[in-house]
Amino acid sequence: MQAIVLHGKNDLRYVTDYPKPTPGPGEILLEMTYTSICQTDIEMWQHGMFNWRGKPHIQGHEAAGIVVELGEGANIAGIEVGTRVAIENVRTCGTCFFCRKGTSQLCENGRNFGFSDDGGLAEFGVWPASLCIPLPDNMTNEEAPLAEPTSVAVHAVENANVVVGETAAVIGCGVVGLCTLQVLKAAGLRVIAIDPREQSLTIASELGADATLNPNEVDVGVVLPQIADALRDGRDLLAFLREGVRGRVDSDAEPSHPMTSTTSALPRTTKSPDDTQSHNGYGPDVVIETAGAPGTALDAANWVRRGGRVVIVGFSHESQDDINFGRSHMGEKNIMGSSATSHGGYHKAVALIANGSVNVKPLISALVPLDRGIQDGFERMLKPEKDVYRILVGNG
Ligand SMILES: [Zn+2]
Ligand SMILES: [Zn+2]
Repeated sequence: MQAIVLHGKNDLRYVTDYPKPTPGPGEILLEMTYTSICQTDIEMWQHGMFNWRGKPHIQGHEAAGIVVELGEGANIAGIEVGTRVAIENVRTCGTCFFCRKGTSQLCENGRNFGFSDDGGLAEFGVWPASLCIPLPDNMTNEEAPLAEPTSVAVHAVENANVVVGETAAVIGCGVVGLCTLQVLKAAGLRVIAIDPREQSLTIASELGADATLNPNEVDVGVVLPQIADALRDGRDLLAFLREGVRGRVDSDAEPSHPMTSTTSALPRTTKSPDDTQSHNGYGPDVVIETAGAPGTALDAANWVRRGGRVVIVGFSHESQDDINFGRSHMGEKNIMGSSATSHGGYHKAVALIANGSVNVKPLISALVPLDRGIQDGFERMLKPEKDVYRILVGNG
């Protein structure tokens, strides 16, 4: 069968002779519909990260398919030949210390579709029936792979222990950031989205961000506490921005758009984050970091209010261990990691997409067939001025 196979760092191959899998006990054979390429796939290919099995395997952990054959004992409720499913890609052991404590996302023996095991960038795949989530009728095959990043967002928001009415900032408006923003909105929070790409900020505002900030235009450490406090206090953000942040914006022009056009009028200063907390406001209750860029974890820790929660989701070869734990101690800040999703996160993600709480359609940038997946998918994701969010590979 056709497949896109990762052999190792910088060695990704499209092949037509990969053996078609057969479902084992409890497993089903799926004809893959679409699998999306994620930045993690790029990290695996370009930087050799997460190559757990150490031997060639089919890439693709954000995947969906149609059931074509049931293995022995795979005849479970809701799953039959022809059922469209999204794949919950984490396969836990159920018996280790963490699984038995009910924290299977920390499983010591976990296997993953597209990481340790063959993934979705192929004509067919096999996976346990219990980890295949039937799609509601109103969810398309194109939307289905995006249940994976949505489930990551659900887990991050749950790890943040959010409370209705709080204000959150999301650092990074890639796919996971834009899903996180929407899950936070669905949970009843005010959300400020932060990203240096105007295109991402425009999408963020369309998807419900209450404000957006571009770090190339403003000193986020100064502006964010003021905007977070304005949102927390229920002040009219447009009026607040017209008045000027701390009275220092002179222009009284009506902002055409609260998200992007006003930010260039906001002040830039060189004050340290310590100064900003006491002088400019408190800041968001929660900061969720999804960028994984150099310095963004430290930004998250600096920008959250005292006593607030930081969740680190983003991770890449550029990530740095740069959090100042002394400052975290002083501000009683809670900093936690969030990786992949917890059991049940996928079901919530599918429900949020199906009921319209999370709109993944603007995040689908292109559809390409499997035989063009490397050229039109992976290589396009490498462009320095990346103009895509998710590229779906497959034949529907
Ligand atoms: Zn991913
Ligand atoms: Zn386990």
